[in-house]
Amino acid sequence: MGKDESLFRHFGTKAIHAGQEPDPATGAIMTPIYQTSTFVQEYPGKHKGYAYARGKNPTRDALQRNIAALENGKFGLCFSSGMGAMDAVIKLLKPGDEVITGNDLYGGSYRMFTKIFEPMGIKFHFIDLSDARHILKNINSNTRLIWIETPTNPTMQIVDISACAGIAQSHGILLAVDNTFASPYLQNPLDLGADIVMHSVTKYLGGHSDVVMGALVMNREDLYERLAFIHNSCGATPGPMDSFLVLRGIKTLHVRMERHCENGKHVAEFLRNHPAIEKVFWPGFADHPNHDIAKKQMRGFGGMVSARLKNADLEKTFKIASSFRVFSLAESLGGVESLVNHPATMTHASIPKNEREKSGVTDNLLRFSVGIEDIRDLLEDLRHALSI
Ligand SMILES: *Cc1c(COP(=O)(O)O)cnc(C)c1O
Repeated sequence: MGKDESLFRHFGTKAIHAGQEPDPATGAIMTPIYQTSTFVQEYPGKHKGYAYARGKNPTRDALQRNIAALENGKFGLCFSSGMGAMDAVIKLLKPGDEVITGNDLYGGSYRMFTKIFEPMGIKFHFIDLSDARHILKNINSNTRLIWIETPTNPTMQIVDISACAGIAQSHGILLAVDNTFASPYLQNPLDLGADIVMHSVTKYLGGHSDVVMGALVMNREDLYERLAFIHNSCGATPGPMDSFLVLRGIKTLHVRMERHCENGKHVAEFLRNHPAIEKVFWPGFADHPNHDIAKKQMRGFGGMVSARLKNADLEKTFKIASSFRVFSLAESLGGVESLVNHPATMTHASIPKNEREKSGVTDNLLRFSVGIEDIRDLLEDLRHALSI
């Protein structure tokens, strides 16, 4: 009854169909929520491919195939959060191994690297990745992994994925890319030579601010087997209800991303021309330091925009951040609704102030996740809050 997957050639078709087929028992067009922890066996070891739901669940399987297809990868694994997905990748390493990563990372990633894995004997180098050649100075015989995020959170720096992949390959090191900000609609790191793509599915993939989930996608079977072993052994696997919600959310990913990009551009340009704003961070500006790389590796610039307020101390910044009426003041991003966030005290509070400021996360920085509402209401809300 399933359709021929080779017919799903383009993104919007894959988003809706890949990995899914009508329920073989009833013909239901939506993948059912297999809300079960175990599966009956005819005799020990004889079952229909499913034994225990931590290891395998049909709803999650459909989602894993779908996300893998969107990233042009062979294998997908879904986790109970983005951090759970990252945790599995770092568990490929052992004490004494070293990781090279950026100095402008999601706060939770920085916290996990420094507070959980450094004490276990894994060493992390946090460096400026605006030029991938900086990696070369930090490679030694213990380097096992390069972990990058692009665009970075929250200062929207762009890291050259192909250049990092070239360095990783020539030194026999793994390259993992946190593709959360771009989403697979705008950027596909495996096509550019990365070994592993990671998503906080919580964000654009889920898209409706109702699920926390993570994912990894890869092409190499040996890597998949090691990661699937960690996935099942350590157990950060998502439930079937959440898997269903994300399958449903992804069906509109391409449509949502088009509007996120369009609204993001309007917001970035509006902020850039506003007298209360000192600087806007958005990779779509021609004078963004790595605009050319962004144009080369992304199909659009996304809906994330950050801005520094002019002459605003912490009190004034808080006042503005709390004055929005259409944007909501909240952590997270990538949902249909617009959010404003104060990185220094919210998403990036776990990074020490001096480290944070080095990467540009100053007290007067606000980050916007531009949603897909009517742009006129979003601009009016910005106008109002910035006049406070
Ligand atoms: C949110 C986020 C994460 C963590 O994902 P969770 O789903 O919250 O665990 C990792 N990286 C980036 C870029 C994120 O925005």
